[in-house]
Amino acid sequence: MASPRAWRWSPDWRSPALGLRRGQAARPARTRSSRSSSAPSSGGSEEVVSASSGAPLVRVLDLRKSYVLGDVTVHALRGVTLAIESGAFVSVVGASGSGKSTFMNILGLLDRPTAGGYYLEGEDVSGFDKDRRAVLRNRKIGFVFQNFNLLPRTTALENVELPLLYNGRSTSAAQRHQKAQALLNTVGLTARAHHTPSQLSGGQQQRVAIARSLVAEPEILLADEPTGNLDSRTSIEIMEILQRLNREKGITVVLITHEHDIAEYGTRTIVFRDGRVIHDEPVARRRDAAAELAALPPPENEA
Ligand code: ADP
Ligand code: MG
Repeated sequence: MASPRAWRWSPDWRSPALGLRRGQAARPARTRSSRSSSAPSSGGSEEVVSASSGAPLVRVLDLRKSYVLGDVTVHALRGVTLAIESGAFVSVVGASGSGKSTFMNILGLLDRPTAGGYYLEGEDVSGFDKDRRAVLRNRKIGFVFQNFNLLPRTTALENVELPLLYNGRSTSAAQRHQKAQALLNTVGLTARAHHTPSQLSGGQQQRVAIARSLVAEPEILLADEPTGNLDSRTSIEIMEILQRLNREKGITVVLITHEHDIAEYGTRTIVFRDGRVIHDEPVARRRDAAAELAALPPPENEA
């Protein structure tokens, strides 16, 4: 268990139910993020470390993004400067059209800024081309979307395994199954591994999507309106999973939402308006999803 990545293979990670009980010393994210930066020989067991020299996990400087549509230019981001530390749980809020998804797409290396800097673990990635972005994205970033984005007619287990086929590491079929099943256990779907999305509720589909987002062992989980299609109890259940992953596994979470009460599950709220950050503050009274769930009456028909 000497490898920085061993945490994910610890028995409690694999344990059924909503497992993850054993507290993993305060901030494992520190260690994990340092496995990063430039080691070109990816996938090896010794990902040696500590080149991060105190750089925040994410830092953006005067980030701008414009879309040209015919003779109209839409300024989606108009100069955003901020940093996100490893292990943070940041909520990004703002009205529709304020630039939240554009910001997430750039953080997630799905898109490139028009101008400005993006430093990921101290490395300037703003000029990376598509291929370099894809390599880095597959190694460091997990995504969860409002619409789940699962493959239809494909089981939960297969959906979760899928990213392992594309991340350039050689993982045997048996290892893929084992890992995917362990993650389904973590999100409380032990008994649903062989169901297809149409056989699952919205909340269950989002759990599959969360498991899938974790399978390649990302540093950062980017969740764009993950509760946007869910009822309030199910939303709290999803937030419980995100809080637990953040707290116990040290995964950095960036949660995009237009709902302020959902934002309060994070530790910091960044408010966008018209492509700019207008507030950036700690959450005064953070909500605790696990405690809220415990106080609710049990659901009518337990899964
Ligand atoms: P939010 O997620 O906060 O609703 P977005 O980042 O999706 O905001 O959009 C910010 C602005 O950029 C909006 O005016 C939107 O219409 C525009 N926009 C976003 N994506 C594109 C695109 N691919 N092409 C053109 N305009 C876009
Ligand atoms: Mg959006």
